[in-house]
Amino acid sequence: MAASPSKGVNLTTWSEGLHQLHQAWERHAAGIPPKGGTRPPTYRSVAEIPPGTEDVVALDLGAPDLPQLVQLSPIQALALIGEARNETLKLVAELKSLRSLSLTAGRGVDLRPLRNLSNLEHLTLEATHITSLAPLTGLDRLETLAIADLGKLSAIDEIAALGQLRWLFISGGMWSKYRLPTLTPLASLANLECFLLISTHVQDGSLEPLTGLSRLHHVSLPNYFSITAFARLAAALPTTVGHFRSPWFVEPRPVDQFHYAACKTCHQYRPGTTLGKPAKRLCPNCHADRIAKHLARWEALVSAAREPVARSKAAT
Ligand SMILES: [Zn+2]
Repeated sequence: MAASPSKGVNLTTWSEGLHQLHQAWERHAAGIPPKGGTRPPTYRSVAEIPPGTEDVVALDLGAPDLPQLVQLSPIQALALIGEARNETLKLVAELKSLRSLSLTAGRGVDLRPLRNLSNLEHLTLEATHITSLAPLTGLDRLETLAIADLGKLSAIDEIAALGQLRWLFISGGMWSKYRLPTLTPLASLANLECFLLISTHVQDGSLEPLTGLSRLHHVSLPNYFSITAFARLAAALPTTVGHFRSPWFVEPRPVDQFHYAACKTCHQYRPGTTLGKPAKRLCPNCHADRIAKHLARWEALVSAAREPVARSKAAT
C-alpha cells in the first residue's frame, strides 16, 4: 500500500525545489531572465543512493541495478536521466510514495503504469514520443504538469480532466514548429494559477479559453496570436502578470551605438517587437509615428474588449 507521505518525513528539499521551479516559471512569464540554479547530484547506480533517502534523487537510467529501485519505497521526488522504457515505467509505478517525478518517455512507451502513483503532485514529462495524455487523467492529486518536446501529440483534450492543476507548462519541440488545434481544454482548469506556452502554434488562434480562469496570476505566451486575441485576454485578466498585457512583446530600450541589436539607422535604441502577429520591430527614434499608431490601436482594442466584460459583470 502507499506509504504515508507525511509521517516523519522532512519535505523541505523537494518542496523547496518545486517552489523554486514555480518561481522560475513566474519570472519567465514576467519576462525576467533565468538565474542559474543548482541541480541535485545524479546517481549512476541505485546502490549509490544513501539508504532511507526520501528526497530528490536524480538517477541515471543506465544504472546496472535499476530493478533495485523498488527498494527506494519511501522516496518522494525522483528525476530519471535518460529515456524511460516500459520496464522503467513498471518499476517507477511501484514507488507509491512519489510526489514528484521527472522523466523522458522513450519510443513506444506506455505511460499507463503512472496511474498507480496516486500521491503524485508534480510531473515533468519530456514527451517526444507521446501521442496521448489519456494515461495521466487518473492522477487526481496532480497540481503541476510540465510537458515538453511534444512533436507527436496532436491534441491535449485529456488535460480538461485534470481540474486540480495549478501550474501548467507546455513546450513544443526545440527544433520544429509544434501545432495544437486549440487551447479549449484549458477552460476547465478553474484552479490554474500559472500557464506557460512555449514554441507552440495554436491553430484556432484563440485565447478565449483562458479568459474565464480567474485564478491565473502568471501567463506566458508566444507571439503567435493576433493583437485582437491578446487585447481580449488583457481585458479579461487585468491583474495577471505577462507580456500579453502590454502592447510590446519586447519593449524597445536605449542602447549604446555598438550594441549588436542597435537600430541600423539611428544606433540609439534596440527596437521593440510589437505584440501580436505579424510582429514589427520598431525604433522609438525612427518609427515614432508607427509606434503611436500601434499604441493607439492596442488601447482601442483593449477598451473595446473591456466593454462586454464590464457589461457581463454588471449583469451578474
Ligand atoms: Zn532608430
